[in-house]
Amino acid sequence: MSDDDKQRPGSRPSTRLVHTGRGHLGGDTSPVNPPITRTSTVLYRNTSVRTTIAARKAAGERVWNYGTAGSAVSFALEDAITEIEGGARTMLFGSGLAAVAHPLLAILKPGDHVLFAETIYQPARTLATDYLTPRGIDCEFYTGGHAEVATRIRPQTRMVYLDNPGSIVFDIQDMPALAAVCKGRGRDILITVDNTWGAPGLYRPLTLGADISIVAVTKYIAGHSDLLMGSVTANTRCADLLYRAAGILGQVVSPDDAYTALRGLRTANARLKMQAANARTVIDWLQAEPEVERILYPALETDPGYALWKRDFHGANSLFSLAFKPSVTAADANRFVDALRMFGIGASWGGYESLALTYPPERLKGWHGGALVRLHVGLEDPADVIADLELGFRALRS
Ligand SMILES: *Cc1c(COP(=O)(O)O)cnc(C)c1O
Repeated sequence: MSDDDKQRPGSRPSTRLVHTGRGHLGGDTSPVNPPITRTSTVLYRNTSVRTTIAARKAAGERVWNYGTAGSAVSFALEDAITEIEGGARTMLFGSGLAAVAHPLLAILKPGDHVLFAETIYQPARTLATDYLTPRGIDCEFYTGGHAEVATRIRPQTRMVYLDNPGSIVFDIQDMPALAAVCKGRGRDILITVDNTWGAPGLYRPLTLGADISIVAVTKYIAGHSDLLMGSVTANTRCADLLYRAAGILGQVVSPDDAYTALRGLRTANARLKMQAANARTVIDWLQAEPEVERILYPALETDPGYALWKRDFHGANSLFSLAFKPSVTAADANRFVDALRMFGIGASWGGYESLALTYPPERLKGWHGGALVRLHVGLEDPADVIADLELGFRALRS
């Protein structure tokens, strides 16, 4: 939301999260939430209506002509995410990973060159190395930020792709500076950002110069570890191209999942605020433990990404990594996690529950330190979270 919008009643971000995508259902009475409509076939009143709808569809308009087009509730979710991200158009996918894949599959052609940040989500890296590369797309990985990108851009460069912050190590890149580097070139270079950490509303990369923002709706938007979904929001430079490609490829989500995700979105701000506060309490405690080298979390004043986070983000979530001192081995880190009773051991995050996961440090891109544990702090009482982590430290010391 722009500063102007902020002045208008009802337009503050947390208020919009409650009211966006509610639409107008018409009639004298209506439900609070858009209805779930389960259908494959959509029936037309007559053939002339069908002709008109087909023409609108061909012109790129979002119309309800068949189940694969979505439905009222998925349209509502798309509109809500479009508003939160500040884009022109949003498409929904059956998982965050399918959303990650979409801009790469829809835009890139053989001979194109792509610059991927070193700290992207690991399955996105596998997509680059095991799927795009064998199909003639030149995938190059860069360390650092925009200054490094500037030295590596070529005439064939079509896209820069990054997670901001980076996956697991949470390094932050300067989006306006990156946009300045890319926009100054003859050829259109699109900036694609995986904005899962910053969603909903903590980070709005499209307002800072990015062209495409990907969100794993699975995480804080759904918020309850009970569904998989991804979104791609784009600005006017590429929204229509991405929308048409999603239609060509038959990408659609179920109305039940769209409903559940939209329901999660309504309370996302409350959960995020509480989980971020719980995470901060836990981090303050962790930092005093002798085995802890540092906490990787851009909202921490001592983090290398803090200044950019402070400038460009509107808040933080409850996902961070704990880096141990060199005396703690990767096997010790596994013992630490195995000693936890309340934390679940599992991938994904953004649900209401606390999770822990270790990563082999030598296989972790962009990380040159020792053993590391990624923690997601849930809605439990932070005193219980800390008591559980104490069990981990006790295991290290025994
Ligand atoms: C979880 C995640 C994804 C993938 O989402 P899924 O719905 O689990 O496929 C993509 N990017 C990031 C940064 C994620 O954390």
